[in-house]
This record gives sequence, C-alpha cells and structure tokens, in this order.
Amino acid sequence: MPTYVRTDKCDGCKGQDKTACMYICPHDLMLLDKDGSQTGHPMKAFNQEPEQCWECYSCVKICPQNAIEVRHYADIVPLGGSVQPLRGSDSIMWTIKFRNGTLKRFKFPIRTTEEGSIQPYGGKEMPKLADIDKPGYFTASGGFRTGRAGELLRVK
Ligand code: SF4
Ligand code: SF4
Repeated sequence: MPTYVRTDKCDGCKGQDKTACMYICPHDLMLLDKDGSQTGHPMKAFNQEPEQCWECYSCVKICPQNAIEVRHYADIVPLGGSVQPLRGSDSIMWTIKFRNGTLKRFKFPIRTTEEGSIQPYGGKEMPKLADIDKPGYFTASGGFRTGRAGELLRVK
C-alpha cells in the first residue's frame, strides 16, 4: 500500500526547499509542488510515483503534520477501511479501521534522538569496498561484520 498526502493537512513544511518527506524518502518519490502546476495544490507535497513506493512508511512517520496516509487497496476503501497514523513526540499510533467499523490502535515507540545524531559505523570510518580484501575485515575483532567471507561473498 503506497502513501498519499492529505492536502488539507500538509503545510509544505512551511516552504522549506527540502521538506521532511523529501529528505527521508529512500526512493526520492516525494516532491513539493510549489506552484501547484503538477497537482493543482500549491505548496503541498505529493508522491510522484506511487507504483514505485517501497512502502517503507518513513515519510508517514516523519511528517510533522500527520499529513501522509497509507493508500488503501481499492477493494477496501469503498467499504470504509482505513489506516491512519498519528505521530507523537515519543511514539506513533496507528489506527486501523476495519470494514465492519471495528477500530484497533497500535502504539509503538519512536526514536527520540536528534536526526543525524546516530553514528552508523560506531565511530569508525565509513567502510569502503576495497576494505573487503583486508585481512580480518569479516571478523568480530578486526572488521565491521562477523562471519566468513566465503559465506557472505558469492561472487568476486
Ligand atoms: Fe507536507 Fe508532511 Fe511532506 Fe511536510 S513532510 S511537505 S507537511 S507531507
Ligand atoms: Fe518514499 Fe517510503 Fe514514503 Fe514510499 S513510503 S514515498 S518509499 S518514504
């Protein structure tokens, strides 16, 4: 289920050149339609290619306006089902509405550290492809990953 932007909620991240959804989308699908020429809704973001959406929901979770919803399957929407996220400062609540009207809510904690503050390599330098050939690269003591190179590398 790809995502779509609710134009009644989106504020275009207050005119930032790179909106939160544009920043986070790993597939560069989100775009701010500044003049409204593409969607008819100026200063609203939109998913350029929903069929290319990874459905990772990163944009759903980062949107400060809770303006991005999950696009439901066509056989569910007419029958009243919906999936609606509500993002808080330390959690995200998903409200699932079933076709028979049943509501279920699921609450999950979210990261509270500042964006960009994570050190993905644990303080080490970012690994390079050439590092693969270094002795010990695939060991717990000398490299970034554990395991045997022969198991991890099928083609060389
Ligand atoms: Fe609109 Fe949300 Fe995207 Fe900001 S992150 S541009 S509010 S959809
Ligand atoms: Fe991009 Fe993921 Fe949002 Fe799809 S769900 S538009 S891939 S951030």
